[in-house]
Amino acid sequence: MKNDLWYLNLVLIGLTAACLCFWPNASLGQDVVKVYKVIVDPGHGGQDTGSKGSGGLLEKDVTMALAKKLVQALEETGKVRSELTRTDDQDVSLDERAGLANHNHGDLFISLHLGTTFAPDPTGFSIYYWSPTTASPTATPSSNTVRSWDQEQEPYWEKSRMLASLMREELLWSIPWASGGVLPADIYLLRRARMPAVMLELGSLNHLEEAAQLQKPEFQEAVVKAVTQGIIKYRSLEDKGILITPKSPE
Ligand SMILES: [Zn+2]
Repeated sequence: MKNDLWYLNLVLIGLTAACLCFWPNASLGQDVVKVYKVIVDPGHGGQDTGSKGSGGLLEKDVTMALAKKLVQALEETGKVRSELTRTDDQDVSLDERAGLANHNHGDLFISLHLGTTFAPDPTGFSIYYWSPTTASPTATPSSNTVRSWDQEQEPYWEKSRMLASLMREELLWSIPWASGGVLPADIYLLRRARMPAVMLELGSLNHLEEAAQLQKPEFQEAVVKAVTQGIIKYRSLEDKGILITPKSPE
C-alpha cells in the first residue's frame, strides 16, 4: 500500500511537470499569453475562379497554394497563429470572409490575389489598403460612437498602410519583381475588416512570364517568407508601440 502511494505521488509529480513543459500558454500564477492571429484569405474559390492564365491556370488555385504556404511559414515562426478564410475550393462571399476574420478576432488580415493585364510588360506586385480618402461619397458618415459594418476599417487604416509598406520592402528584397506600390483603394472586403488589413496582388496570371514564376514552388516560398517577415516586423513595431506612419506610400 505504501509503495502504491509512493508510486501514485511519482506519477502525479511527473504529470504536473509534463503539463508545465508542454502547455506553452499556461504556467502557475501567470496570465495566458494572447495569441496573435493572422487571417489569411485566399482570393476567390468555388464558382468564382478569379483571373485565368493559359493552360487552365486559375487564380483561385494559385491563391490557395500561396495561402497554405503562408500559413505554414507563419506557424513556423512560433510567434503568430493563422487561420484561413477558406480551406478548400469553395464559394465564400466577401461578407463571410470579413465576418470570419472579425468574429475570430484576427489581429491582421491578409488577402491574396493575382491580376490580369492587357499590357506586354510584367505588372509586378501591388499592395492595397483602404483609406478614408477612397471612400465613396455616398457612404454613411461615421460617428465616434457608432460605426457601421461598412466602416470597420476606419480606425485601422494607417496601420494597414504601415503593414503594406513593410511587406513591400520585404518583397522587393526577396523576389525579382517591380513594385506597383502601396496603393489606397476602396476595396469592399478591406473596408469591412475590423483589424489592419491589406490585399496583395501578385502579378498577372495571363502574363506568361509572371504566370510561369507564380507556379514555381521556390518562387511561392520566397513570396510567403517575405510576407511573413513583413508581418513579424509589423508585430514587433506594434509591440514596442512605435508604429511609424510611412513617409510616402507610393
Ligand atoms: Zn482576385
